[in-house]
Order: sequence, then structure tokens, then C-alpha cells
Amino acid sequence: MDCIFCQIVQGKQKADVVYGNDKLIAFKDISPKANIHLLVVSKKHIISVNELENKDKGIVGEMVLAAKSLAKEFGIDQSGYRLVFNVGRGGGQIVDHLHLHLLGGGFLNNGQPGFTDN
Ligand code: 5GP
Ligand code: ZN
Repeated sequence: MDCIFCQIVQGKQKADVVYGNDKLIAFKDISPKANIHLLVVSKKHIISVNELENKDKGIVGEMVLAAKSLAKEFGIDQSGYRLVFNVGRGGGQIVDHLHLHLLGGGFLNNGQPGFTDN
């Protein structure tokens, strides 16, 4: 499958992986928009939140809990952080494989809608 995140999940494409379990993988965004910018990615190829089904709710819960743990590990749990699911082109989604952005530690620019410097 010609999906960059599936290739990372399968180890066919390199990424700076910071966490993984049976359901998800987390790695550093290749083009960070914040000092800490991680992507928490489902191992299952789900296109976006629009394609989520009831049976996938466990994955989403795990993604949010992994982001919480990573925020602590990367020292931004107290300063604060942002969790973002972009959905579709109008929502800023470029990679059509479900992922949760974890951003914090000061924003590098205001390049995404709704983002402000902190
Ligand atoms: P989206 O805009 O789809 O919500 O977010 C996709 C994110 O994936 C972008 O922030 C982009 O920088 C990142 N990204 C795209 N391709 C790669 C890649 O090959 N490796 C990594 N680590 N990040 C990627
Ligand atoms: Zn995929």
C-alpha cells in the first residue's frame, strides 16, 4: 500500500520512533510546527476520524492516553500541549492515515489554523 505511515509502521520507511505497542506507534514529525511535535499513529490503516467505526474506539482511547504519557516523558505535561486530529483537506490533513498530533514546548510558527505562539 502506498501509504507513508503504513510504511513507517512496517519499518519500510525510517522515522524517529519514540513509542510503540501492538496498536500504535509514535514518532517525531519530520517537519515540526512546535518544539515538541510528535505523531501518534494507529497501526491499522484508517483514513481519518471520518472513517472511524465503533469498533475502533479502543484505538482512539489508546492514542490519547499514549499522547498523555508522551507529553509527560517530553516534559510538556505541566506547561501544556495541544492534541490535534486534522480531518480531510479542509481540516489540514495531508497524510490519509489516522494520526494524532502532540504539540507543545513553544510553537515555531503560526502555520496551522488556530495555532498561536505560546
Ligand atoms: P496532517 O497534515 O496529515 O494532519 O499531518 C501529517 C504530518 O505528517 C505533517 O505534520 C508532516 O510533517 C508529517 N509527515 C509527513 N510525512 C512524514 C514522514 O515521512 N515522516 C515523518 N516523521 N513525518 C511525516
Ligand atoms: Zn496507512
